[in-house]
Amino acid sequence: MKRRKFLRNSSTVAAGIVSAPILSSYKEVPAVKEPAKAPILPITICTWNFGNATAKAWEILEKGGTALDAVHQGVMVEENDLNNSTVGNGGRPDRDGNVTLDACIMDKDGNCGAVLAMQNIANPISVARKVMEETPHVMLAGKGAEQFAYEQGFEKTDLLTEESKQAWEEWKKTSQYKPIINIENHDTIGMLAIDADGDIAGACTTSGMAYKMAGRVGDSPIIGAGLFVDNEVGGATATGVGEEVVRTVGSFLIVELMRQGKSPQEACEEGVKRIIAKNKDKQDFQIGFIAINKKGETGGYCIHPGFSYRTYTKEGHVINPSDSYLKS
Ligand code: ASP
Repeated sequence: MKRRKFLRNSSTVAAGIVSAPILSSYKEVPAVKEPAKAPILPITICTWNFGNATAKAWEILEKGGTALDAVHQGVMVEENDLNNSTVGNGGRPDRDGNVTLDACIMDKDGNCGAVLAMQNIANPISVARKVMEETPHVMLAGKGAEQFAYEQGFEKTDLLTEESKQAWEEWKKTSQYKPIINIENHDTIGMLAIDADGDIAGACTTSGMAYKMAGRVGDSPIIGAGLFVDNEVGGATATGVGEEVVRTVGSFLIVELMRQGKSPQEACEEGVKRIIAKNKDKQDFQIGFIAINKKGETGGYCIHPGFSYRTYTKEGHVINPSDSYLKS
């Protein structure tokens, strides 16, 4: 897997802040010590180190675009990146060799749309938005989602890259399903944004756990689990082993905790602790949550060290290393 390249501006990078979307390798972009807390609007925030995605979202927000367009266009950058093996085109397949994609989107009015286990369509987030805007439904799955996408003008695309195919062939030699913690430091992209009007939207898209069972769906396209937005309160989104996020309806929980007065950081920490409480004897998996409240304050928390999230405001973009429940 090739890492994307980020150019660096040495003087500003030292502060963890740069003024433009800049490319070099993710490894080379240094993390800042303190998460960004200053409530500055507009703002976009996303899981992991998806700099090109937040830059795209920021481009839209800066021009006065809506939070919905920002998160939609932002996460699409990763869906289209063939070097990203965990989202969209080029994602790792299930154990039968089929790439099945999950995505959901939610707007300021609580409207939402999702596609589950959809094959052959490169931009599931766009289909999810069409589900939200063009159908009386919230979720379409499998063949129905694919058929709907064709009816909406989406093209059939072979999503299994040669690299993914080779990795799958290699995996079949042992066929052990063992999700790797912090795989390549970027898994699902979940993105939240607040636009200049103060409205919040979110999007989440993934190819799911590599070598999952055929038909398996994780948290990412499930409203309330992988993503939740309430325009009165804030939004939250997740990455990691989706089964555990579904069991606690993680993103909804975090938004509700913020409604009760917790900061985004405190709410994410409580979300992780609820998962830990259900897994007292087994913590060999990663979960990362990020959240934003109506003021633009942000937070993030995870089980194992290594998760990070990005924010992008008029002050530039910042990589926030997430605090973790386990320290090493
Ligand atoms: N949450 C995704 C899923 O369970 C995977 C991930 O974020 O790595 O499908």
